[in-house]
Amino acid sequence: MPVASRSRCLPLLLAVLVILSAPVLPAQQAAAPPVQDEEFARLVREWTTAPEFLSPLVGHLPLAAGVPTPKDVLGHHVGAPNVLTYTADLLKYYRALAAATPRVRVTTIGTTDEGREINIVYVGSEESLANLETYRGYLQRLGDPRGLDEAQARDIIAKARPIYHLMAGLHSPETGPPEMLMELVYRLAVSDEPLIRGIRDHVIVSVLPVAEPDGRDRYVDWYYKHTIGITNENDRVSGPPYWGKYIFHDNNRDINYSQVTMRALLDWYLQWRPLVMHDLHESVPFLYTFSGQAPQNPSLDPILYGELPWFANFEMAQMTKYGMPGVWTHGFVDMWSPGYLAFMASNHNGIVRMYETYGNGGATTMKRRVASGDGPGQTSREWYRPNPPYREVTWSMRNNTNYMQTGVLSALQLASEFPRVLLENFYAKSRNAVEDGRTKPPYAFAIPAGQKDRTRVARLVNLLRVQGIEVGRTTAELKVAEGTFPAGTYLVKRDQPYGRLAKILLEKQDFPDPNLRTYDDTGWTMGLMLQAEVTPIADKAALDAAVTPVVEARADGAVTAERGAAVLVVPHHGANAMTTLRYRLKALDVRALEQPHTAGGTTFPAGSFVIATTQGGRAVTDEVRAQVQTLGLDAVGLPSAPSVAMHAVDLPRLAVFSTWGSTQEVGWVRHAFDQFEVPYDLIYKERVRRGGLRADYDVILVPNQGRSAKNLVYDIDVKGPPLAYRKDDRYRSLGMYGESDDIRGGMGLEGVLELRKFVEAGGVLITLGTASYMPPEFGLTRNVNAQRPSPAFYAPGPIIEAEVAAPAHPILYGYQSTKMPVRYGNGPLLQVPETDRGQVVMRYPGGAASVLSGLMKGADEVRNRPAIVDVPVDSGRIILFAGNPCYRWQNFGEFGLLFNAITHWNDVPATVAREAPTPPQ
Ligand SMILES: [Zn+2]
Repeated sequence: MPVASRSRCLPLLLAVLVILSAPVLPAQQAAAPPVQDEEFARLVREWTTAPEFLSPLVGHLPLAAGVPTPKDVLGHHVGAPNVLTYTADLLKYYRALAAATPRVRVTTIGTTDEGREINIVYVGSEESLANLETYRGYLQRLGDPRGLDEAQARDIIAKARPIYHLMAGLHSPETGPPEMLMELVYRLAVSDEPLIRGIRDHVIVSVLPVAEPDGRDRYVDWYYKHTIGITNENDRVSGPPYWGKYIFHDNNRDINYSQVTMRALLDWYLQWRPLVMHDLHESVPFLYTFSGQAPQNPSLDPILYGELPWFANFEMAQMTKYGMPGVWTHGFVDMWSPGYLAFMASNHNGIVRMYETYGNGGATTMKRRVASGDGPGQTSREWYRPNPPYREVTWSMRNNTNYMQTGVLSALQLASEFPRVLLENFYAKSRNAVEDGRTKPPYAFAIPAGQKDRTRVARLVNLLRVQGIEVGRTTAELKVAEGTFPAGTYLVKRDQPYGRLAKILLEKQDFPDPNLRTYDDTGWTMGLMLQAEVTPIADKAALDAAVTPVVEARADGAVTAERGAAVLVVPHHGANAMTTLRYRLKALDVRALEQPHTAGGTTFPAGSFVIATTQGGRAVTDEVRAQVQTLGLDAVGLPSAPSVAMHAVDLPRLAVFSTWGSTQEVGWVRHAFDQFEVPYDLIYKERVRRGGLRADYDVILVPNQGRSAKNLVYDIDVKGPPLAYRKDDRYRSLGMYGESDDIRGGMGLEGVLELRKFVEAGGVLITLGTASYMPPEFGLTRNVNAQRPSPAFYAPGPIIEAEVAAPAHPILYGYQSTKMPVRYGNGPLLQVPETDRGQVVMRYPGGAASVLSGLMKGADEVRNRPAIVDVPVDSGRIILFAGNPCYRWQNFGEFGLLFNAITHWNDVPATVAREAPTPPQ
């Protein structure tokens, strides 16, 4: 094909030109030729699959007496075929380097779920590293410019130095960046080439060697055990079932920083405020550099949208000049969601940056088809891809290393040529953020403290605090146009450095154009996700309200019980802590009200717990009081038990089913269960196929997973040799969170049959999101159908309205209103026959007006579709959630629906599910 052949020849020609014209390139400008590692140069040429995949910046390695190269410590050069480095060895190298040169320092910022260190490595001039604390202070000052005049700011900018942060290994199969960074740090520490010296003298580089250390080691184990020998692209097999403890690539979508490794990085970030957070990924060919395309979040400073293509275009031009084909920008990832990990920089007035380089999922050299199918894919020439990648390529780890390192060196070159511009911009964006909050509504957000469920209020405030957002409590009543808020109201004023971030997180997301696609969620409005009241205030008077700063919000529980109270009643206002309370008091008899009850001036909603103060001849008031108070709940003592119907809240033996092929959404549920102290067995196809499920379990939960019913049932393709996931002395990271001799094949029809037997024998099967395709499509719920929306439908994570259909159903305990905001989870469009409409617990009213935040294109397609269906099947039940009530530690307002379904598993009064609902409009 002419295009392909042209794009093959051009880089070759450029590469030749680069070699011939080497004198104009930076390496030549060094005063005296340093001693070079000749073996390195020879092997790198050998490992690089075509000359144009190498650049003059990285084809050589200067030696420095007494300073170890990666090979000196690891025994191989970076980019060697068939070699991946474990985290302990990466760290060993950085520590050896730091011991040998004052230009490198290694620090520890936390510990992973599995006990590995999380490290930050600094590299810069001796002077920079000796005065790191001073430079950190300058950035802190510029990042909060309140009280700083322009002259003082200029003075700090003249003395300060940008920190440019690089991070690797967030996504475990993207194996190249952790290798590359070792060589980069070495090069930055020892090379005296002008380009490198410029970087060292003007920029401080910080490096997160591996953002997900547990996943890195597990993936490296998997590579050595299963995939190192696979040299044909078509033979590639599934990766390990887990990266970190809970999640896969959602570690880049953990908007609330719930995972310990993500949180450690955020805490470090807020201390150091690097101006740039540059995240190194692998996927598309050959190097894509993020330029922040539309849709862009309009609340961020417009300066940022100039900075992003500034860097990306500079890198593209530099690398193209070096003769490297396939470097492009634009046309891939947008600037809408603030939830990506490195976005923490943009959210705090810095710069998020990202690469995708081409990777083989390991260090095995492989021939790759770059263009998929008949189309050109990412190999077409476009204005943003003037020298496109080839349609086919033999690709190696060293190619990957060359591209990424040349790109990063170019980015650092730009930063080192314009350090003052970067610092000025950071200061200007921070100053503008405060100014924006002073001059544009909303000026503040009010979060009433006295909401019935104080636990979600405290959580919301604390999630803001985690990100460094200032929150205060009003010291007097606040009267504004929006209403009167009592003293003690939480107030987020926007005239603060992170006022823009507060707005982004708390406002409704108006997606700018329904015809634009976006890479992740379109809606995340925190008040809706938590089902907590948050009021935007457009009355400027809010800025003058006196407040006491909040360090951490606490929901204090209150127990009012006269001596001699017969029962304690804990009102259910939707706190997820109700479930924790039940489990903490598992030895006690706890009953739930089936209807609201008023006593002693308090109305207790349905679902409120009733606990006798004397149980088994033992007074339990103190035990209950302690737990209620710690959990931020309330309890009221009554002289006698309420006279309304109640049932025992007896706890089920709970299993959570996971496929081996998509454990991530299960991981989010496991994480929530662990946090709220809900015990469960994690089971896989092996246990399901073995049968006898009812003997061991009362409830089996199948979280959202797989893309279809077939995918859930048959899971990983059976091809090639078995894929064992077991721990042994050699592969110590495998076999965590479950073991299997062969993770392929899924539960199969045998598994579905066992699930049916489980339900027929009185078990409760709960399915979430896409898992809810399975019971209808495999005939477990004969009368319920599961349909897919039309191809024109597009709903990337909006928040929409749901409507209660069976108000007395225990799933709805704690929810007092008839409507609630829920995250749309892209599960099936369920259909229940008219005669069975009583099985519908909740439904989506649908239509454009029901979209509360974010984008749902084709909102009429969900009109009156069931959101939750409770289907009796023989003596058991199947509860289908069309959405996902336990999504990424985000929709806390919905968690209770799932918790209720579990804790009231055997308590559905026969009448409830048969009650005639409001007919559809
Ligand atoms: Zn990635």
